[in-house]
Amino acid sequence: MTKTAFYSDEHCFWHVAGIHAEILPVGGWVQPPAGSGNAESPESKRRFKNLVEMSGLMSYLVQSNAAPASREDMLRVHPAHYLDRLKEVSDQGGGEVGEEATFGPGSFEIAAKSAGLVMQAVTDVMQGKVKNAYALSRPPGHHCLPSESMGFCFLANIPIAIEKAKQEFGLKRVAVLDWDVHHGNGTQAVFEARSDVLSISLHQENCFPPGYSGVDDSGVGEGKGFNINVPLVAGSGHEAYLYAMETIVVPALEHYKPELIIVACGFDANGVDPLARMLLHSDSFRAMTTMVKSVAESVCDGRLVLAHEGGYSEAYVPFCGQAVMEALSDVDTDVKDPLLGLIALQQPSQETLAFQKQVIDGVRQRVL
Ligand code: ZN
Repeated sequence: MTKTAFYSDEHCFWHVAGIHAEILPVGGWVQPPAGSGNAESPESKRRFKNLVEMSGLMSYLVQSNAAPASREDMLRVHPAHYLDRLKEVSDQGGGEVGEEATFGPGSFEIAAKSAGLVMQAVTDVMQGKVKNAYALSRPPGHHCLPSESMGFCFLANIPIAIEKAKQEFGLKRVAVLDWDVHHGNGTQAVFEARSDVLSISLHQENCFPPGYSGVDDSGVGEGKGFNINVPLVAGSGHEAYLYAMETIVVPALEHYKPELIIVACGFDANGVDPLARMLLHSDSFRAMTTMVKSVAESVCDGRLVLAHEGGYSEAYVPFCGQAVMEALSDVDTDVKDPLLGLIALQQPSQETLAFQKQVIDGVRQRVL
């Protein structure tokens, strides 16, 4: 029986994220780019879906779409004045309603679609229609604050899905694991004063938001202890990430015993991403997926949803995504990661790794 679902929508590939040459706003000395011109282009996502199809893996998955998130769904997380402003600017052809988050015409409706994919994935997993699910959400959501767009994100996709699921299924404990290379500051902002959602973010320290690592942000008031930030030093690779998973993430999840686990699945910690400086490859994402899936099986009957976040190498994200889908579904394909050998050779030396583990041990002592 097929147990893994894949949610996508062509609309999500039609969102325009503004004109940047990779990460630099065009203007002054920055020459306008050729091609799509923004790091947050649809290509990495579209090619990921295409590879899942071309490899034959899609035929083993439940392939589905979703209705957009409604205003009522959004209002559980975002105030009306923010939604009104976002909609107004979107209707006027696009602009900016926050830091590093330009958008084009119609992006409000596309963002609603993106959040809808995550909501539907959560609903179907909660109802037991499928065991686990991947939502290819674009635009992403994990930087979006309740009243402000940020970092390519316009709606808080995962919090919107969690609030809906709490209302519909009475969930008391949900865990969010964010392995996007940038800090999941939006998710933290929504849930930091609450104990009913455990937020864990693995990220490159001081990367985005700039200058921020968050190791001492452990939650506020009732939420104290339910917000875990694990900043990793630039250059961390496969072994450092797995070490952080084994020594911090897995124990925290096992202790919290969530009824549902959602992964903010960015692929920008890979070794060729233009927006970060980490060294993961497809087998790293495969291994992390296997680990979180195993925890889900032990604590919440396998209920696991992955929501797409960042990842800006158009050529390489598909191979990391393919590995995640193979691990989620237990279906292997003939797809070979063409960069696996190269990135494996670029991993830190044993000496450097020992230092990185020491840093992670230090973080663990502060956060667990
Ligand atoms: Zn990111």
